[in-house]
Amino acid sequence: MNHQTPKIGLVSLGCPKALVDSERILTTLRAQGYAFSRDYEGADMVIVNTCGFLDSAKAESLEAIGEALAENGKVIVTGCLGVEESLIRETHPSVLSVTGPHQYEAVVAAVHQHLPPVPNRFVDLVPEQGLRLTPKHYAYLKISEGCNNRCSFCIIPQIRGDLASRPIASVLYEAERLVKAGVKEILVISQDTSAYGLDLRYAPSPYHGRQVEARLQTLAEELGQLDAWVRLHYVYPYPHVDGIIPLMAEGKILPYLDIPFQHAAPSVLKAMRRPANQVKTLDRIKAWRAICPDLAIRSNFIVGFPGETDADFEFLLDWLEEAEIDRIGCFEYEPVTGATANELEGIVPDEVRRERYERLMEVAQDISAHRLSQRVGRTIEALVDDVRPAENIALARSQWDAPEIDGQVIIANAAGIKPGDMVTVTVTGSDEYDLFATPVGR
Ligand code: SF4
Repeated sequence: MNHQTPKIGLVSLGCPKALVDSERILTTLRAQGYAFSRDYEGADMVIVNTCGFLDSAKAESLEAIGEALAENGKVIVTGCLGVEESLIRETHPSVLSVTGPHQYEAVVAAVHQHLPPVPNRFVDLVPEQGLRLTPKHYAYLKISEGCNNRCSFCIIPQIRGDLASRPIASVLYEAERLVKAGVKEILVISQDTSAYGLDLRYAPSPYHGRQVEARLQTLAEELGQLDAWVRLHYVYPYPHVDGIIPLMAEGKILPYLDIPFQHAAPSVLKAMRRPANQVKTLDRIKAWRAICPDLAIRSNFIVGFPGETDADFEFLLDWLEEAEIDRIGCFEYEPVTGATANELEGIVPDEVRRERYERLMEVAQDISAHRLSQRVGRTIEALVDDVRPAENIALARSQWDAPEIDGQVIIANAAGIKPGDMVTVTVTGSDEYDLFATPVGR
């Protein structure tokens, strides 16, 4: 964040309605490039949203204003006690402005007057869910919050609640803004991308004069029209996912699926309470690859889940080989406070978990090395993340590699290549995780 970014502190008192007012004020200010501070010292100004319902609430509000003035000095007052402006001004003459409840625009105007927004190209592009911490050429696009599943090892639904999808128009306009700002790769994220729109009952929203439905298929089709790579993460293999594979085969979105399978053995999946565990996933994967032979699948797995037997683990290894999962991440099971899996029996001893982890990673390496070796000799596009001028190489990624979690394309003879460039390269070699390449024509 820019050091000039103005920071606001907020003290929110009173009932839930006041809280919603506070949220609206924060949302507006955030969209205008303001940041927020949790303490008085870090803030350039403090907004106190007051309550005036009972005398005790009034006293508490006046006390909060006094504290903010003493600790920070620049204070804007709003909320229910704001209707008693004279009382506030008599007690605290130095407050900068006083407004009543639901007067968001007046509060924002007062903030502008006393702490003007600083135009910042980076912040002005910020979507409502947060700042972009990624390099300029790729960006994460969050399509929903929360999750309707109840996997036994996970507490995300307890923390973030049930699925709440963003309206599709808001997602698509954000994606457009990102592409206009130079983003070349959009990474679609959520807790359960396949479930997108379910909570909205797929309600359409107006996008460039058309009514567009909030469905994964539509989202993929619309994003596929943009001039950027589109990569889907956290997709569960529900039947409707079949519909997006042809888009991959046509080159509209990347032939890449990040599916957190977590396991393959039916009894473990059942104990994990995983979504879509009833489908014959191997058959689905084979059918997908028949449509889109270039499809790369990335997945995470948990070993040593309570009750996982040797047979379950061997089943998993065989399954990985047959499914030819290109990129595999693995965790040893660990209990998470509050997760229902903690009550399961059949704890797997530490040394068994570790051994299973190591064996799984060996299998994963072999599969990855084999899959990558099949790409040697091909001419592909690679998106450059970084350059090492001293070594004359560029570190890039192919359509099969997501940033941070997958492998790289290491480009030799990289003089003149910059981060963010899309380079056509010939793959000259491979190892367990990476491809080696040279730019075409050099
Ligand atoms: S692990 Fe399961 S419950 Fe947790 S976010 Fe993912 S799908 Fe939802």
